[in-house]
Order: sequence, then structure tokens, then C-alpha cells
Amino acid sequence: MNLHYDMIVIGSGPAGKRAAIQAAKIGKKVLLVEKNEIVGGVTVHTGTIPSKTLRETVLFLSGWRQRGIYGRSYKVKDNITADDLKQRLDSTLSQEIEIIQHQLMRNGVDIHYGHARFNDEHSISVEDHGGSVSVESEPGQTTFTLVLPESNAGPREATPSTPQERGELPAGE
Ligand SMILES: Cc1cc2nc3c(=O)[nH]c(=O)nc-3n(C[C@H](O)[C@H](O)[C@H](O)COP(=O)(O)OP(=O)(O)OC[C@H]3O[C@@H](n4cnc5c(N)ncnc54)[C@H](O)[C@@H]3O)c2cc1C
Repeated sequence: MNLHYDMIVIGSGPAGKRAAIQAAKIGKKVLLVEKNEIVGGVTVHTGTIPSKTLRETVLFLSGWRQRGIYGRSYKVKDNITADDLKQRLDSTLSQEIEIIQHQLMRNGVDIHYGHARFNDEHSISVEDHGGSVSVESEPGQTTFTLVLPESNAGPREATPSTPQERGELPAGE
């Protein structure tokens, strides 16, 4: 099976997501290649959103921000556990992942999950669960072809999941 694209984007972090969606908005057919099993990049999985969610959760549960009004001993919760943080993190990350997936889907961006490597200036190999597929462009042409063996399911939409569900972060208490 051969699929044709105007643009290939490697990586679904903020940079890749925006590039893919902007290109799609001006009418390009875009394939986004992501090596992780889920879209989002560092911002969603290990950086911006997890760090700020954990910080905000602790500030809220400890009552820190309300102490000026209710007194220094004010707390929303006495014992803050890893489970409290995990629950909030899970729901925040799931929402963020869903938002990105819907943005990509609404704009007609295809996603192929696999590790991309440049072979040369005209072709990329993508190692995925089904083996290796190639994305090629003929010299002088401006379109790319994703060449898929019959056994390969090809581009797909991701199922939302969180790093905890995939065992990438320790479970709570
Ligand atoms: C702890 C922490 C806190 C942060 N807090 C903030 C903050 O508050 N505000 C802020 O603005 N920034 C923050 N950042 C920085 C922010 O996360 C990065 O600037 C941002 O993620 C960069 O986006 P990107 O799309 O360039 O790359 P990334 O988010 O790294 O995305 C790259 C994507 O490409 C994929 N990829 C890479 N190589 C391949 C390949 N060969 N084939 C297929 N896929 C590939 C990766 O799996 C990944 O999904 C923070 C970072 C960290 C670590």
C-alpha cells in the first residue's frame, strides 16, 4: 500500500504538532511520525505539564495559597500521598493527550508511530512494531510516498494513555 503526502513531520512535541497542523491548514497532506506510543513530546509526558501539575496539586492540597485568609495551619488535605498526585497527573495528562489527538485528527494529519531515520535527502526509514517502512520522495518532486508492506497497519490514531498506564512512572502508594 502506498500513501502520498506533501509533508513529513518527525516528532509530535509542540514544534512538530504546530508544524503539522499549520501545513494541514493551508491544504497540505501531512504525515506525522512519532517514536513514542503516544503523541505530545516532552511537554506532555515528562516536562512542562507534569512538573506544573505536580506543583499546583501540592500547592492546592497543602492549602498554601489560602493560608493568608484562613490562617497558617489551613490545609485542604492532611497527608498528601503519591496516589493523590498520581490521580491528578493522570487526569491532566489524559486530557492534554486527547486535545492533541483531536487537533491532529480534525486537521486530517495522519500519524505513524515509529522511529524515523534519514537514509539520504530523499528518503526516511521508520522502524515500527511491524518492522521497517520507508517514506520516499523522487528527486525534484515535492511529494512523499509512505511505502507500506501489506502486513503493516499503517498510519493510525492513538489510544489515549498516560505514562503511568504505560509503566513509565512509578505507581502511587
Ligand atoms: C522538566 C521540564 C519542564 C519544562 N517546563 C517548561 C515550561 O514551563 N515552559 C516551557 O515553555 N517549556 C518547558 N519545558 C521545555 C519544553 O518541554 C520543550 O521546550 C518542548 O517540549 C520542546 O518541544 P519540541 O517539539 O521541540 O520537542 P519535544 O517535546 O522533545 O518533542 C520531540 C518529539 O519528537 C519525537 N522524536 C524524536 N526523535 C524522533 C525520531 N527519530 N523519530 C520519531 N519521533 C521522534 C519524540 O518522541 C518527541 O515526541 C520543560 C522541559 C522540561 C524537561
